[in-house]
Amino acid sequence: MDFVEVVPSLYRIELDFVNAYLWCDPGDLTLVDSGYHGTGAAVLDAVRRLGQDPAELRRVIVTHSHDDHTGGASEIVETLPDVSVIASRADAPVIRGEREQAAPVLEDWERRMADGLPDLPKAPPVRVDLEVEDGDLLGFAGGATVVAVPGHTAGSIAIHLPLHRVLFTGDIAANVQRLIPGVFHLDRAEAQRSFERLADLDVDTACFGHGEPVAHDAATALRSVAAEL
Ligand SMILES: [Zn+2]
Repeated sequence: MDFVEVVPSLYRIELDFVNAYLWCDPGDLTLVDSGYHGTGAAVLDAVRRLGQDPAELRRVIVTHSHDDHTGGASEIVETLPDVSVIASRADAPVIRGEREQAAPVLEDWERRMADGLPDLPKAPPVRVDLEVEDGDLLGFAGGATVVAVPGHTAGSIAIHLPLHRVLFTGDIAANVQRLIPGVFHLDRAEAQRSFERLADLDVDTACFGHGEPVAHDAATALRSVAAEL
């Protein structure tokens, strides 16, 4: 587990192969994604080591229902019961454990990639306090906009901070070896359309579920990938 400042107020918390992000407003902290089950304590420890007070964590936004993004949330709400868990209306039933996770539709090369990955601990169900949809506004970072980016899961969301020109893509984009429109999608064509939508945003910084953030001129990087689709 490691953490690094991406731009002022924004930290990447690296949990082996998946990222969580911490946005710091004075006295009001926001996590975007929560790691896999077993990482909740490490996330809170990272918050502390960043010089922030975990008691000031107000919300955990889960970009989608996959276990490596939701798994830490149950541990975090156990420690901090007042934290608000935020997810899309479409993915919330899966996150609450009321509905089965739909399996992604894999291409052959993705199946080979999936075979090489370790089994993920299953995410325990966790409550969702606020269900959001496309265009909803969240009260941090001077106003954060929910962008519906279906295709990876039915209810995948990205979070756009227009004032800071920051984007959290969830798994609609990834930057492990190079910037790509993500892997292990439910609907690849729909995921690509969602990627194109993100590439239209005016952003300087893009943060991905997996891989290195692009700290500057992210829109150009996203657009050049979108042009190849
Ligand atoms: Zn995912």
